Order: sequence, then structure tokens, then C-alpha cells
Amino acid sequence: EEATQTKHIIMFPFMAQGHLTRFLELAYRIVHHDPSFTITIVNTPLNINSLRSAIANRPSPPSQIHLKSFPFNSSDHGLPPNSENTNTIHPSQIPLLIKACASFEAPFRQFISEVVSSERNPLVCIVSDGFMRWAGDVAKSFGIFSYLFISGAYSGVAYISVIQNLPHLNMADGGTHDEFSVPGFPESCRFTSTELTPRVRAIDGKDELSRAFKRGSSYEYNGVLCNTVKEIEPLGLEAMRNYFKLPVWCVGPLIPLKLLIKNMSLDTSMGVTSQRSGKKLGIDPKYCMEWLDSHQTRSVVYISFGSENAISESQMMELANGLEESKKPFIWVIRPPIGFDPKGDFQPEWLPSGFVDRVSKQGLVVTGWAPQLEILCHQSTGAFLSHCGWNSVLESLSQGVPIIGWPLGGEQGYNAKMLAEELGVSVVLARWSDTRIGKEEVSRVINMVLDKTEGGKGDVLRKKASEVEELMRKAIEINKGSYYDAMNNFLTRCFSI
Ligand code: UDP
Repeated sequence: EEATQTKHIIMFPFMAQGHLTRFLELAYRIVHHDPSFTITIVNTPLNINSLRSAIANRPSPPSQIHLKSFPFNSSDHGLPPNSENTNTIHPSQIPLLIKACASFEAPFRQFISEVVSSERNPLVCIVSDGFMRWAGDVAKSFGIFSYLFISGAYSGVAYISVIQNLPHLNMADGGTHDEFSVPGFPESCRFTSTELTPRVRAIDGKDELSRAFKRGSSYEYNGVLCNTVKEIEPLGLEAMRNYFKLPVWCVGPLIPLKLLIKNMSLDTSMGVTSQRSGKKLGIDPKYCMEWLDSHQTRSVVYISFGSENAISESQMMELANGLEESKKPFIWVIRPPIGFDPKGDFQPEWLPSGFVDRVSKQGLVVTGWAPQLEILCHQSTGAFLSHCGWNSVLESLSQGVPIIGWPLGGEQGYNAKMLAEELGVSVVLARWSDTRIGKEEVSRVINMVLDKTEGGKGDVLRKKASEVEELMRKAIEINKGSYYDAMNNFLTRCFSI
């Protein structure tokens, strides 16, 4: 009887690159862990196409992963034509994309009904993103289970809890530095409103973000999956259990496992990057590696703000001047500043005049997509100035590279806070794209983190980062690590918890 049952997980990620990649990676891990599972990932046509090419680029695409697209007309939702992903729209339009998620409820319900009625003795469950708040309702009406899938534990629960509780949190009017506690977290863990994104600071309970995370019957899950490692997030997991009162499985790190297996040849990782992103690189990886080879161990700072965020023009000027002043070798991945077409070409006036020529010996300016994994894996890389997107965080820590935080949106502010306060692997240089940052501060912080003096701040950060790297390695030890435990436990219980 058991053998004839189909085990089917239907996944619905939000339409953003990081989310799609994380769900796809989870799908791979599941069918790798237990090949008897079938996975269907549901999304809009353009995103399904990009998932399809990402799968096709893998060395041996598994036959158990299926894709299903729902029609989506972005113009119906006030978005420009063919806007189906956060990386092609202006950040101010993201709430429209979040709002548009509601329109998938009917086709999703229809699809679930087809799956449930067409398969013989099907075992079906749903794994979805926080923005699909109706998924729990749909699951309930078919008598199946549904799970929330988020990135980091600490940042995931902080993000949701703050949005659900902010209008009631005790923050004095205009007192932007006032401390407050966040439901789920112990009283001793203090938050300040400067740590909230400008968008979250502005919520009033009736906006799109609040509506997307509204509490109530439509926000019910049977458990939470987290792209994290149990051992590195004790406080986040405690907060999550307190707040959601649901079982939690840490199924991370969802980064290429090769990164955590020592003696990985660079060639292997190189394949992994281009295969994963399917993006055209803005620099020849071979040249990039040779450049890194010519530098000392842990001496280079790598700077990237991920695939969708940007800093302002004036911040970019100060960052450039600060880098030059620091005299440290760097690799800087430049994206168009706020206000410019995110897909537009590089414009020299974004940088101080003569900058590129003056730093030609000091650093590499990359316009376009960088081979981030290879850069982080290289022993010359000593620090990562990052927006603290969760994938970047996991990738950096998997190589023991300390982080200089500059969160720009989403839950990145909580990632930065957790990395600095809980793990001690990071210092926060700046927050958001609307703040002033001086070149002196940029130069000071970079020098501090790269400094090799025994017992100094840089040394302490590096040691902590190495400890975290070790914990991540332990978590993926075959059949022993906490990652295997979580996978086994989730996959044996997900239909019958
Ligand atoms: N990435 C890359 N090259 C770049 C920029 C980003 O390979 O030039 C990859 C990076 O390795 C990571 C992902 O894109 O896997 C970014 O994810 P993250 O969660 O850090 O940030 P997001 O782009 O979602 O804001």
C-alpha cells in the first residue's frame, strides 16, 4: 500500500531571485535525500522559465522536480509589462508585487484540487513563502498540511513579528532611537527603530506589508522550514518557537555543499556559480582568481550588495573615496545607484572623477555579475562588505570570512544585527540607502576588519567566523549532522505531523 503512494510537495516561492533559488535548492536537497519524493514548484511564466534554465544547467537534472506556471499579467497589478520578479522593478513597486500574490489563490486552489484528485492515494503538502498567506487556508480546505519556508531564523521571526506588532510596540513618537522588545524575543534582546527599514518604520497596520502578514485564521501553518543551521542560531530558534508555537526544521545551509567540503577544487565551484545563477559574468573569473592569487592571505575586501538592492549616488561616492583612502585591495561589484535603471549600463559619473584609473592597481571594479562564490572561497579574501542578504551571509560564513554589514532592505537589518550581536562575526558600517556615510568611516572600518593584529577586532571577528564555518561543516556531516537530522525528521513527518 505504502509503496504505491505518491509523495508530493507543492512549493510556492515569492517572485524574487533569492526566494526562487532557495526553494529550488530545497527541492534538490529533498529529492537527493529521498528520491521517492516529487516536487512541483509553482510560479509565474517568466520565473518558471528562469527556473527551467537553472535546472537544465545542472549536471544531472532530477526528473522528480516539476514546474507549473500560472498566467500572470503584471499590468493588471499596476506594474510595468513583463514585471514578474523584484529584480526587474523599482524597489518602490515591490509592495505591488506582494499584493499581486493574492491573485494566485484561485489558480492555486484549482491546481491543488487537481493534484489531490488525480493521483492514487496521494500524500500532498504545501511549502510556501510568507507572502502567500492564503496557502494555509487552501491546505486546510483539502485536509493537507502546509509549511512556511524562510531564510534565517532570527531575521525571519523578527521580520514577521515586527510587522505584525509594530503599530502596538511601545515606541515614543519620533523617538527613533528608543529601544523596544519584540514579541517572541526575550525582553533582554533590545531593538531600535533605526534597525527597521524605512518601509517597515512607516507601516500603520493597513498597508500592503501589514496585510500580507496579517495574523488570523488565514495565517496558519503546520510548521516552519528554515534555511539555517541549528547550531548557529540558538536565539533565533528560541524566538521562533515562542512566536509561532510550531515545529521548526533547520534544513540549511542551502548553499552548494561543495563549499563546505574541504579541498574542493576551484574548478568545481566555478561551474556551480555560473550554473546556479545562469547570469553573464561582468568579469572573467580566471582573471579575477589570478588577481586574487597575487595578493596576501585575508588581505582583500569584497564588496557586493546582492542582486536587487542599491545604495544612493552620494553613498557610492563616499564608498569609493573611502576605499581609495583605505589603501586596501578590493573587488567592488557595482550596481546602478538608487534612481537609475537597475538593468542600465555603468555610468562613470557615479564614481569620483578619475577613480577607476587611480585604483587600477589597488582594486577591481566589476560592473555586472561577479563570481561571488569563487571570490569568497579564495584565501586572499579577508572581509565581505555586504548588504547581509541571507545567501551572501551563509556563503561568507561557510568560508570563515567576516562581514562588514550594510543592510539595505527586507530582513537584512535583522541579519546584520544577529551577525554582530549574536555571532560576533560582523560590524555594521551603515544602514539603508537614505543615510549619510562618510569616507573616513568606510576606510576606518575596512582597516579595522582586515587588521591582523593578534587580539584586535579583526582577529576576533575572523576567529568567530572560523568557528561558525566549523559548525556549518559539522551540520552537514553525512548521517550525523543536524542538517540530516532535520531533513529526515521533516520528510518522514511532513504529511502526518
Ligand atoms: N551573487 C553573485 N554575483 C553577484 C551578486 C550576487 O553570484 O554579483 C549571488 C550571491 O552569491 C548570492 C546571491 O547572488 O548567492 C544573492 O543572494 P542574497 O540572498 O545574498 O541577496 P539578494 O540578491 O537576494 O538580495
